[in-house]
Amino acid sequence: MIEKRDFYIDGTWVAPLTARDHHVINPTNEEPCSLISLGSEGDVDRAVAAARAAFPTWMETPLEDRVALLEKLIEIYNRRSAEMAEVITLEMGAPIDFSTNLHVAMGTLHMSTFAKVAREYVFEEPLGDHAPDSWIIREPVGVCALITPWNWPMNQVSLKVGAAIVTGNTMILKPSEESPVSAMLLAEMIHEAGFPPGVFNLVNGDGPGVGTALATHPDVDAISLTGSGRAGKAVSVNAAETLKRVHLELGGKGANLVFADADDAAVERGVRYMMINSGQSCIAPSRMIVEESAYDAAVETAGKVCETIKVGPANEPGSHIGPVVNKAQFDKIQDLIQSGIDEGARLVAGGPGRPEGMNRGFFVRPTVFADVTPDMRIAREEIFGPVLAMMKFSDEAEAVQMANDTEFGLANYIQTSDAEKLKRVSRRLRSGMVEANGVRRGAEAPFGGMKQSGNGREGGTFGMEDFLEVKVVSGWS
Ligand code: NAD
Repeated sequence: MIEKRDFYIDGTWVAPLTARDHHVINPTNEEPCSLISLGSEGDVDRAVAAARAAFPTWMETPLEDRVALLEKLIEIYNRRSAEMAEVITLEMGAPIDFSTNLHVAMGTLHMSTFAKVAREYVFEEPLGDHAPDSWIIREPVGVCALITPWNWPMNQVSLKVGAAIVTGNTMILKPSEESPVSAMLLAEMIHEAGFPPGVFNLVNGDGPGVGTALATHPDVDAISLTGSGRAGKAVSVNAAETLKRVHLELGGKGANLVFADADDAAVERGVRYMMINSGQSCIAPSRMIVEESAYDAAVETAGKVCETIKVGPANEPGSHIGPVVNKAQFDKIQDLIQSGIDEGARLVAGGPGRPEGMNRGFFVRPTVFADVTPDMRIAREEIFGPVLAMMKFSDEAEAVQMANDTEFGLANYIQTSDAEKLKRVSRRLRSGMVEANGVRRGAEAPFGGMKQSGNGREGGTFGMEDFLEVKVVSGWS
């Protein structure tokens, strides 16, 4: 078992002020795979003080030097990518090939994108021709607390850490207590890259403890959280007293609108996209809403595709999906599957319990429900498991209304061969992202949501700007 009780503060690994051990459970076999510490207010104070002390010098470090350090980090990260993939697989259960090809690769992509866009970014410029002596300066916010979830651990951490580095902020990372070791590995890499002490700090802990201490801390200037709505609300309330900037990336309940004129692969694509990462993605297209005339055929296809999706141990190579992260998540998904049955949805594939032949590990049967109605729990709640809810619509107006009938607004999907309809419907969908016909967003695209999916944008220039303040100096000559 991996033992990593220390925190990374001020350029060195230090023991927690108060011992509080926490076991991370391997979701494939339900056994402890690592031992870490949960921090306390005192640990947060130490990390915030280190980040505060490092800030003035880091802020004035030339952009070129900050980017060069990030590039050094990327080099080390790529060199140690196999180690990173193994840890992600161990602690959150993504199958090893998926960890390597997606989880780890997303970290490289995000950090490289920040290095590129930061070099091209205009940090200072005149307000305009009408006021050339009014000078705009974009500068770091200050000391940032970064709180991340377990479901895409390096994706989320790199989106925050990469943006904070290039913009000249100093930071305290609190990774999820479910996936702390991958973040600690990144801290080791940051150390190896030679970042000045205090620029990056890591304190492990849970939400009510370290999370609250960061959100309430008077010397933290901004907090960037990716997680559940519950955590987003707590952070917002706790940060209000010190009026710190709060940047939230929360849950989703994506609609996938399949029109009758969609391409032949649209339904299969939607089912497979729903199931990757065992359905544990905030942007999962979890409600497939199909035009009436194409609905029966779509349900049949979805059921068949679902039955081809294999579930297996995370450490085995292959294109199967792994377990879900922990017992709480497993129980929540089982409860929602049962609620679908009890509320009268039609079970097309999968169902309650573990897949046949599996009696250990948090494995869930890939499941498709048809004839779901908008009031059912499986249509409203974020399941965060491999469970698809299928519904039907009669016309375009109803499709838009059903897609928008949710408290969330993160990612929606549209499948149609009619370019005008695609544009019209996309404009009316209340979400930060709309993916049409399976075409993925470009590398520097903004990632984030509307409504209760949050208020921030991550990735590329948009993600950098969430970590910048705008200042104007008049009389500049
Ligand atoms: P979670 O809210 O339980 O935990 C996320 C992080 O917040 C963890 O580090 C946790 O310790 C911390 N936290 C929890 N309560 C807190 C509190 N009161 N104060 C401060 N910090 C607190 O979420 P999770 O289960 O780790 O992740 C799954 C959720 O994250 C899902 O809802 C998913 O949709 C969402 N998510 C959103 C995005 C996005 O970009 N919008 C991306 C990935 C995941």
